[in-house]
Amino acid sequence: MFIPRVKLCVLLLLTLSVTVLGQNALPNAISNAAPGSAAETTVLKLEHFDPNLIDQSLSPCDDFYKYACNKWLTANPIPADQVYWSTGSSLEVWNDNVLRETLEASSKNDPARGPVQQKIGDYWAACMDESGIEAAGLKPLQPELDRIAALKSKKEITLEIAHLHHMFPGAWEGSDNQTNAPFFGFSGGQDYDDASKVVAQLDQGGLSLPNRDYYIKTDDKSVETLKKYRAHLQKMFVLAGEAEAQASSDAGTVIELETAMAKAQMDNIKRRDPKNINNKMSLAQIRELTPSIEWDVYLKAVKAPASDHYIVSSPDFFRTEEKLLVERPLEQWKTYMRWQVIHRAAPHLTKAMVDEDFDFFAHTLAGQEQPLPRWRRCTRAADRDLGEALGQAYVDRAFPPESKARTIEMVHAIERAMHDDVESVTWMTPATKEQAIVKLKGIEDKIGYPSHWRDYSSVKITRDSYLGNVEQSSAFEFERWAAKIGKPVDRGEWTMTPPTINAYYDPQLNTINFPAGILQPPYFEKGMDDSVNYGAIGVVIGHELTHGFDDEGRKFDAQGNLRDWWTAEDAKQYDERGKCISDEYTQEVSDAGPGVKQNGMLTQGEDTADNGGIHLAFFALEAALKTQGKSLDDKGPDGWTYRQRFFLSYGYSWCSNIRPEVARLIVTTDPHSLPIFRIDNVVSNMSEFAQAFGCKTGQKMVRANACRVW
Ligand SMILES: [Zn+2]
Repeated sequence: MFIPRVKLCVLLLLTLSVTVLGQNALPNAISNAAPGSAAETTVLKLEHFDPNLIDQSLSPCDDFYKYACNKWLTANPIPADQVYWSTGSSLEVWNDNVLRETLEASSKNDPARGPVQQKIGDYWAACMDESGIEAAGLKPLQPELDRIAALKSKKEITLEIAHLHHMFPGAWEGSDNQTNAPFFGFSGGQDYDDASKVVAQLDQGGLSLPNRDYYIKTDDKSVETLKKYRAHLQKMFVLAGEAEAQASSDAGTVIELETAMAKAQMDNIKRRDPKNINNKMSLAQIRELTPSIEWDVYLKAVKAPASDHYIVSSPDFFRTEEKLLVERPLEQWKTYMRWQVIHRAAPHLTKAMVDEDFDFFAHTLAGQEQPLPRWRRCTRAADRDLGEALGQAYVDRAFPPESKARTIEMVHAIERAMHDDVESVTWMTPATKEQAIVKLKGIEDKIGYPSHWRDYSSVKITRDSYLGNVEQSSAFEFERWAAKIGKPVDRGEWTMTPPTINAYYDPQLNTINFPAGILQPPYFEKGMDDSVNYGAIGVVIGHELTHGFDDEGRKFDAQGNLRDWWTAEDAKQYDERGKCISDEYTQEVSDAGPGVKQNGMLTQGEDTADNGGIHLAFFALEAALKTQGKSLDDKGPDGWTYRQRFFLSYGYSWCSNIRPEVARLIVTTDPHSLPIFRIDNVVSNMSEFAQAFGCKTGQKMVRANACRVW
C-alpha cells in the first residue's frame, strides 16, 4: 500500500518484492522440505541462539560475521524457492504455518462463522482454488481490458487512472520508499510542517521495475536486464491474447514510456532529505502543473475530501508526465494501461501468467529458482490484504502477555540508555540536548498489535474470485487512506501487520512499532537470559529508537513536524559524524558482482541506526545485569561471558545466505546494508566488542577511525 510517509524499519526492504517481485509473496521464508512433504504441513521448529555454531577455528577479530555465522551458513544453503535464507527464515515459515492453520479452519463453509472468519476464510478458499482460477482463464481480467479499449479520448484517461489506483494503489515498500502505482501515487498523509494535519499527497510513480536505475543505467548487466524485461513484456501481451507482432511493438511502447518517467524521477538519495519532497501546492497550481489530468474528476472519483494543500513530492516528474500525456497518442497510453492491468493482475490469474511473471520478476531479477508453494503465497496475500483480520488469531496464538510485558521492560531500559547517552555526549550543546530529550520522551511505544482492530466490514470477499478479492481489498485500503485527508491523525494506527517480521520508527507520528511477528525466536526468546535478548531484539529496539535521531529522523521534532531544532553548531557536529558513517559504508560489494559499490549516502540512516542501536542495547544490558548483581564479564551459560554472548547473539541474528542477484538489488535500491556489513562494520566501530574478544589495534575488527554518532 502506498503510504506517503517516511517510515524507517529494521530489516532489508525485501518486502518491496510483495509487488516488485511479482509473486505477491515475500521472496524469503521457505520450507526446506520438498513440496508436499510432512515438514511443509506442520509448524516447523524455530531457530534458537546456539553457541555451538560458533566457528572457533576462525578469529573473531578478523571477521566476526564468519566467526558467528560460518557453520550456520554452510549448513543452511538457500532453498530453491527462496532468494535468501537467514536465521530469521524459519520464523517466517513458522509464522506462515500459524496463519495457515487459522485460514484453513476459517475456510470451512460453516454458517456459524463470524464476519472476520468469513472474510479470511473465503479469501483463502478463493486463492487456493487453482482449478477454478485456471477454468476462469482471462475472464476476470477481461472487463478491465475492455474498459481501456473503450477509451475514446485522452480526456478519459483521468477517470481510468482513478480506477487503476483503486485496484493497484502501489506499495509503500517500494525501494525508494515511493509508490509504484500506475502513472503516479495518491494518498492522504501527514503534513510535513504540521503533523497534526492530514493532507493530500502526490508522488512520482508509474514504473514496473524496482527503481529508475533499472531503466537508465548503461552497464552491460543493466542493458541485459532491460532486454529481458522487453522479452517478458512481449510474452505477457501474448498470454493476454495479442498477436506476436502487436505484442512486440507494445513491449517497446511500454519500455519507452516507463523509461521517460524513470528519467524524470527524483533519485533515492535526494529523496532522503524530506525538504526535497515537501513541495506544497494549491489545487490551482496542480491544475496548472498537469492540465492533462482533470483533477476535479480524479479527486471526486477517489472520494478525496478537500485538502488544505497538496504535497507534490517531485514537481519535475509531474511536469514530464504532462509533457508525455500531451505528446504521446492515446493508443500508446492504452498500451501502457493494458500492461499495468495485466502485470498487476498476473500473480492472481492462471498458471501460465503466474509462471511468466515469476520467471522475470523473481527468477531473473532476484535469482529465485522456484516459486513458493501455493499455500505460502496465499498466506502472504491474506496477510497483505486482510492483515488486521488475520492478525487477531496470530496474536492469540503466538504473543502471550508475558512476552509483551518483557518487551515493554526492554524498551523502557533502552529508552533510559538513550536518555543517558544524549546527556553524556560531549559534542551537543545543552540547548539541543534538551530538545532531544523532549523528543525522546514524546516517543510512543507500540508493542505487538494495535489497540483497535481495523474494521473490514465494508470489504466484500467471495469464494469465487481471487483477483476480485484482491481488487476489493486494495480499493478499501486506497479509499481508507484518501478519506483521512482533513481528519485528525490516528496515532494508534499501524502500517505493519501483527505477524510481520520487522519493526519501524514513524518520524511523523514519533512512534516505535514492534509487531508480534518479530517478538519470537531467534530475535526474542522467553527462555533466554538478557544477554541473548538484548543482543538480538534489544539491538532492533535500539535501532528503531535511533531512527528518531538519524540524518533523516533528526529533522522531525517531538510532534512529528519537519522542524529544525538543532543549533547550527550541533548540526555541523552531527553531519561530521554522519559523514564518517557514510564514508565507511561506501565500499565495494563483491557478493553482488564485480564493480558493484554500495553508496553510503543511501544507507547512512540505517547504518547510523545499527551502530546507535547496538550501543543502546549494550548499555541497557549492562544496567539490567547490575540490578541482578552481575557484570558484563561474568560467565553466563555455556562458558561465554555475558558481553560475549551479547555480540554472539547479535551476529547470529543476522546470518544470511543471499543470492547475488538479490545482493545487487539490495545494494542498488535498499537503504539497508547487507547483513555482513551490519555485523562487521558495526562491531569494528566498538571498543566494547574489542574488549569482549581481546581484539587488538591493527586487526580487521578494530577500525582505526571508528565512527560513532550515538
Ligand atoms: Zn531501520
